[in-house]
Amino acid sequence: MTTLPAPLRSNLHAHSTFDDGSLTPQEMVRAAIKARFDVIGISGHVYMGHPTEWCMTPVGTFQFMEEMARLKDKYADCIAVYCGIEQDVLAPLPEGTFDYIIGACHAVEKEGALVYADASAEGLKEGVTRFFGGDYYAFVRAYYESVATIGRTFTPDFVAHFDLVTKYNGEGLFFDEEDPRYRAAALDALAAVMERVQVFEINTGGMYRVGRKVPYPAPFILREIRARGGEILLTSDSHDAASMGYRYDDTAELARSVGFRYAKVLTPKGFVSAPL
Ligand SMILES: [Zn+2]
Ligand SMILES: [Zn+2]
Repeated sequence: MTTLPAPLRSNLHAHSTFDDGSLTPQEMVRAAIKARFDVIGISGHVYMGHPTEWCMTPVGTFQFMEEMARLKDKYADCIAVYCGIEQDVLAPLPEGTFDYIIGACHAVEKEGALVYADASAEGLKEGVTRFFGGDYYAFVRAYYESVATIGRTFTPDFVAHFDLVTKYNGEGLFFDEEDPRYRAAALDALAAVMERVQVFEINTGGMYRVGRKVPYPAPFILREIRARGGEILLTSDSHDAASMGYRYDDTAELARSVGFRYAKVLTPKGFVSAPL
């Protein structure tokens, strides 16, 4: 009898030096082994169609895939290694096939420029001032309209950091997350996405990197995912070793409190549900 990998010992959202991570894929795999993980997937940021520091290059994407194939073999006795891609809605689709695809939205396209939700608080402020006349609710609405397209041009296995737009919002620095304008934008996007994709990550990366109090997505969104019959998995969006599985125990507790009893884990036969 084979045992299922445990959701708390799996991380399918991680980055490496092929994009904006600080460690090579091999170092990330070793970090996952050291943290006693059963499953590690590295999910490079897809090329955006133009060179950007945080994304893989087209050539780098092939090198990344080759390196992941090598690591999959090399560490087969210690850990299941998967090669994923974090596909942004504004990016062209890459060549080649990946073990899984994460659907993500990082920016809003406006007058040919990209206003990033997650690059920096300063960049966000500048972009919203310049392109949205300083109206954060207009920016949030545009962001979630972009999120709503996840799954339209490609089929992700799960949705990344659904409310990434809150990354630099702290305790309501730019907008009130309880304001009906914010909540309606988020929930409208959720309804649209869930017509096509049912699985969402609960991502602890923002807690690790910018000290958010809760993972993505916020509890009110998680409750709606649950109410609509959606499913979840835990990820730590790791860009280094120390963040591997960051705050997974609390996050599993949060997921259970919302009513989730299972989380998705990737196996050689595809995604299965395992008890949380
Ligand atoms: Zn991302
Ligand atoms: Zn990521």
